[in-house]
Amino acid sequence: MSLREPVGHDAIRAGLKSAAAFAASGGSSQLHHAWLFAGPAGVGKFLTARWWASILKCPELGACGGTCASCRLVAGAVHPDVFETGPAPKDKNAVQSADEEIERKRLVGIDQSRALIQRLTLRPTRPGPRIAIMREAGMMTPEAQNALLKILEEPLGFAVIILVTDNPGAMLPTVRSRCRHLVFGTLSEDEVAAVLVDLGRSEAEARTAAACSHGSVARALDYDDEGLAGRELVLLAYEAARRDPLAIEPLVHALVERKESGYAMSDILEWQLAKVRASLGRRPPEPSEPLGRALDEAAAADPAVLIGEAETIERTIVALSRNANARLVIRDLLLNVRAFRL
Ligand SMILES: [Zn+2]
Repeated sequence: MSLREPVGHDAIRAGLKSAAAFAASGGSSQLHHAWLFAGPAGVGKFLTARWWASILKCPELGACGGTCASCRLVAGAVHPDVFETGPAPKDKNAVQSADEEIERKRLVGIDQSRALIQRLTLRPTRPGPRIAIMREAGMMTPEAQNALLKILEEPLGFAVIILVTDNPGAMLPTVRSRCRHLVFGTLSEDEVAAVLVDLGRSEAEARTAAACSHGSVARALDYDDEGLAGRELVLLAYEAARRDPLAIEPLVHALVERKESGYAMSDILEWQLAKVRASLGRRPPEPSEPLGRALDEAAAADPAVLIGEAETIERTIVALSRNANARLVIRDLLLNVRAFRL
């Protein structure tokens, strides 16, 4: 298994690369010993941590392109100086019950913290630092976090700990303050699509899933064929409703018919809301086909109309989440959508 450069987060990766080069020029004691990689779930924080670990251990500082023996050991999570801990990674292919999911996410307790410290305090067997990567570090109990404090307050000089979390608020302030923070944003639609194509999805599938992903590969991967078909239908309805009032009734019917349409609808509406807000002056998301069209239209619209549309979408999302009569809610939205563009 070779280790590829993660997609996106260019500035963060450039910074990590130069930190690694700097450390290599003067010994690992120059490298900050504790890092907090924070940001939304599924945007590549953990992969970036693993990739950086490979660079810190690579004899060529990553110039091998992830193909050298050292980098391959890190990629396979079997490098003697790099270890990964935290809740077990989610198995994307397994259908997990709620209980199993709770068990997977069982809080990381003091035993795991102690094991981490024990392994980190051993001296590196190969050039470069000892590295621990903790995924979902926000799951650590306060006791487990307190146990880590010792190693955070008295750096060993040859060890680096990377805490990865989508919930930095769950970390103790004393732990947070010892860490250098890197804040990861969401990925662009193009970046999510590129990852999906890499994972074997067709270009068309990848595009649609990416457009609904809110910049998270994990979310995009949740969309199976059935889910994608539902989302395409919602998009189609939203677009068609603008043009043809006669299309509304059959579309409402088709949407309500779909078992999963409530979920799909909220999801796609969140996306639509992001686009509307973007045209109100926030940074526009990456344009994509067939979805870029909506942004172009919105860009030309009157701000008062856009605010009205955003409010209607928000209201619809709330109503759907409260199990309101889906037929009425969806019809109301599509009628309003039409009014917004006339
Ligand atoms: Zn290498």
